[in-house]
Amino acid sequence: MVLKGINASAGVGLGRAVCIREEKLDYSAVPYSGKEAEKARLKDAIDEFNRRTSAMAVRIREQAGPKEAEILTGQITMLADPFMFSQMQEAIDGGSCAEAAADSILGMYADMFAAVDDELMRQRATDVRDIRTRLLSILLGTAGVDLSALPAGTILVARDLTPSMTVGLNKENVAGIVTETGGRTSHSAILARALRLPAVLSIPKALELVQDGDGLIVDGSEGVVVLNPDARTRGEYLSRQKDHQEQIAALEIYRDKPTADADGKYYHLYANIGSASEAEDAAQSGAEGIGLFRTEFLFMDRTSLPDETVQYEAYHAVSKTMAGKEVIIRTLDVGGDKAIDYLGLEQEENPFLGHRAIRYCLSRPELFKVQLRALLRAGAEEKNIKIMLPLVTCVEEVRSARELLEQCKKELAEASIPFDKEIDLGVMIETPAAALIADLLAKECDFFSIGTNDLTQYTMAVDRGNAKVEKLYTPFQPAVLRSIRNVISAGKRAGIPVGMCGEAAADPGLIPLLMCWGLDEFSVSAASVLATRAQIHRWHEKDFCRITEEALGLSTVSGVAGYLKASVTK
Ligand code: PEP
Ligand code: MG
Repeated sequence: MVLKGINASAGVGLGRAVCIREEKLDYSAVPYSGKEAEKARLKDAIDEFNRRTSAMAVRIREQAGPKEAEILTGQITMLADPFMFSQMQEAIDGGSCAEAAADSILGMYADMFAAVDDELMRQRATDVRDIRTRLLSILLGTAGVDLSALPAGTILVARDLTPSMTVGLNKENVAGIVTETGGRTSHSAILARALRLPAVLSIPKALELVQDGDGLIVDGSEGVVVLNPDARTRGEYLSRQKDHQEQIAALEIYRDKPTADADGKYYHLYANIGSASEAEDAAQSGAEGIGLFRTEFLFMDRTSLPDETVQYEAYHAVSKTMAGKEVIIRTLDVGGDKAIDYLGLEQEENPFLGHRAIRYCLSRPELFKVQLRALLRAGAEEKNIKIMLPLVTCVEEVRSARELLEQCKKELAEASIPFDKEIDLGVMIETPAAALIADLLAKECDFFSIGTNDLTQYTMAVDRGNAKVEKLYTPFQPAVLRSIRNVISAGKRAGIPVGMCGEAAADPGLIPLLMCWGLDEFSVSAASVLATRAQIHRWHEKDFCRITEEALGLSTVSGVAGYLKASVTK
């Protein structure tokens, strides 16, 4: 059976399905099998919890650092509390099964911590809830998939790919990813590309159609999944896989070349990252800097707020890895499709238009200042960090953020803590409002970076993750192209650098237009760095300007996309 989805991360993977199904933590049908038996079940589940949690901590220590691992080892310590354990045993003595005992006692502790008016205690409540969920999953036998111990050749099939799934993931054994939701610029897609794994997203009912152990082929370049392929189809895709690998290998000649067009004009080519550990990969991929560090992943991969030290260490590590090269770090872009449970964001009717990103941060100055201080400090040695604000829609937001930044500088100076006094503050242009007032925003900030993922979504009023409206969602829409052109020209007129960190920066069809309009910096996923450099290399100014003029003269998206595809494949 051939299933069609969205081509989200290029390459071909062949393997066997491992399905990650949402866990149902309903224990109402679990029988009570006597005091001793229930106590033994509880004890075994806690042992298993400790074993899994220690293994996760080891992986996280390697991938993210000791502070992140401490959260998990702290959970083991919490659950080892003898008083808490005796309370669970008492509940069993009173006739509760192990699940009910764990649920009620841990629930009671979570509520107790949550009621205390102290941020640290409330974070502990989140930890206890996390322990409860994971312990109940073990007791109910629903926590089947251990992502750190997948068999080789696994094709992961899930509703969605989340950052916490990727943290524990044993990537070497994963051949591909299939999800039921998400578009080309959704976070599942971004994570898959960062992991360099072939991925096809938005396959409706994938978890119903595919069972554990089914043979699967994932063609992330074409957006095709083949379920239980025959030998001939496997052979065909193995040869496509080889072609793809050869194409990647052919790009190696661009690794040490400067990013210049055929006339010798230079551009900056940076990489987008989602964690400090990805900076190394970015540096090795040939990127000349970091054009977007999505810091929300640092907040999502955990159960409580990362404090100033944790944040400082992450930003400082990237600054050091990229010493001598620019590192643009985006402040917390929470909300919309990026939920962070412990922040207690309220459910909203329209989360994409709601209390998110810079709006949320400005409403929580005490939380925002922790991040700003960490950024200021992290840039003290290399002076290569720049701060970027997400989802800006008006001048006031930039001014308020700058005011907080100045307060942080003052506080750090008073405490004699070193920081980068000259740190640049930039604005992400990813809303129609920001694009329309780009001239005004340019006077308030030091640089622009165009976020086409959201700019396309908001300009076209089309959900970036909804496969049903996917056809409208493309940067080749005349409305989006005009918007991009106007932003670059406003930045140029004001004399500030303009970059692009949305996925469109790596689109071969768009690259000639961006060069014509004078984009200074392209920031793409690490896996796309060399291909983007190769595209930039091939164009002379006279050609990219002719193509741009022709493309802008066309009034339909199909006309533009068709013309550009034909022009770049010549
Ligand atoms: C964008 O919107 O283009 C962008 C780069 O940010 P994100 O994909 O994280 O929303
Ligand atoms: Mg965005």
